[in-house]
Amino acid sequence: MLSLTHTDEGSSVEEYLRSQIRTIADWPRQGIQFRDITTLLENPQAWKKTADVLAQRYSKMEFDRIGALDARGFLIGSTLSYLLDKPLVLFRKKGKLPAKTLCVAYDLEYGQAELEMHADSVSPGDKVLLVDDLIATGGTLLAADQLIRKAGASTLEAAAIINLPDLKGADRLNATGIATFSLCSFAGE
Ligand code: AMP
Repeated sequence: MLSLTHTDEGSSVEEYLRSQIRTIADWPRQGIQFRDITTLLENPQAWKKTADVLAQRYSKMEFDRIGALDARGFLIGSTLSYLLDKPLVLFRKKGKLPAKTLCVAYDLEYGQAELEMHADSVSPGDKVLLVDDLIATGGTLLAADQLIRKAGASTLEAAAIINLPDLKGADRLNATGIATFSLCSFAGE
């Protein structure tokens, strides 16, 4: 049975992956430490490690689909979809998906945004593994979970490469019954 508390991988993997992620101070605005995974993507060994650790964890679990969040979540989502032979569902910002969609509005730090999923991409009763590059406030993953529930399906777990524990997104997800998993974490915003 899945624990609803936040878990992460052992310290050696965590330290290695942290060393591959670049931090850009004050981007996109003052006070934000942007955790940039482009440096991780530029190192095939580090990307392989990222994908292999996640694939190993989720190869032991039963679920039906992988739900990847716009846009960096698509990268890890498609790699896991290939490795685990699971259908990939895209969660996109409003106006990008061509067929009939389900839509949910959610709060950002400033203002609101809308997230969409193709209405026929998840079936009632499906279990969906959600993936993104990073959990900050958890708002985007919560919105994706709402879309999954609108379709009559449920979330297996929300997985990310990075967690920002100070922003309490994982706590927020855990409090609504969504288990979380990340490969490494960074203090601060
Ligand atoms: P949230 O909905 O607040 O959990 O935000 C998660 C999304 O925002 C992820 O898709 C990240 O790509 C992006 N994001 C938020 N904060 C950061 C940060 N400090 N560094 C890099 N990406 C971030």
